[in-house]
Amino acid sequence: MRGISILMYHQIGPFSSMREHRSTYCHHKRFALQMFYLRILGYRVLDFDTVLRCIKGEEEVPPRAVALTFDDGYENFYEYAYPVLRRYGFPAIVYLLSGYLGKEASWFKKDGRSTPPIMSEERIKQLMDKGISFGSHGVTHLKLGEASDEEIYFEVRESKKVLEEKFKRPFRHFCYPYGSFDKRAIQIVKEAGFDSAVSCVRGSAYPGDHLYQLPRKAISYGDSILGFIWKLHMKNRRKLPEI
Ligand SMILES: [Zn+2]
Repeated sequence: MRGISILMYHQIGPFSSMREHRSTYCHHKRFALQMFYLRILGYRVLDFDTVLRCIKGEEEVPPRAVALTFDDGYENFYEYAYPVLRRYGFPAIVYLLSGYLGKEASWFKKDGRSTPPIMSEERIKQLMDKGISFGSHGVTHLKLGEASDEEIYFEVRESKKVLEEKFKRPFRHFCYPYGSFDKRAIQIVKEAGFDSAVSCVRGSAYPGDHLYQLPRKAISYGDSILGFIWKLHMKNRRKLPEI
């Protein structure tokens, strides 16, 4: 059965070498090369609605299917990733935190990391007009699997409400911060009206998969082009966690 590689990116930029949190950074030159390879190797980059139709079995998964996801909504998405995506006409989805628009990623402070700027409403609207898709990543970047029921309700419902009011369009896709979720989080995301949720479980997504725990493949700072291609081919899998 053909699968879809849903690639997970966070920050894209001119980062110097690093030892920690490598899976949440990608050097912009490597990113540009990765997208170039997707193009020349004939990969089909799907928008997220097509991904869902494929998972639901409404559409056949094309050969070499890939989707591009970006967590947190950093300004460096606009600066470094978007120009490359535009060059190739690749669709992408960015997961936003309703409590951080136009602010800094202050949840990094506890790790002693610098706090990169998050895109403003104006910037996001500009990208929406250019065809970039957006989903919700909650309000405050909380680990839902460790949160109280009330906190989960707030993160999920409030983010949907605020984002939809601000941007006057439906937000139908959710992304669990830190990939942390449990049965309650799945239920609450579903009940709130989201159609899908992505996790950090590693592997390709296949028709019939659970729509609220879709696996992804993190592209890390350390991935050379060979490592990148290896991840595209990686089927692994992985039983989905029993929850
Ligand atoms: Zn995040």
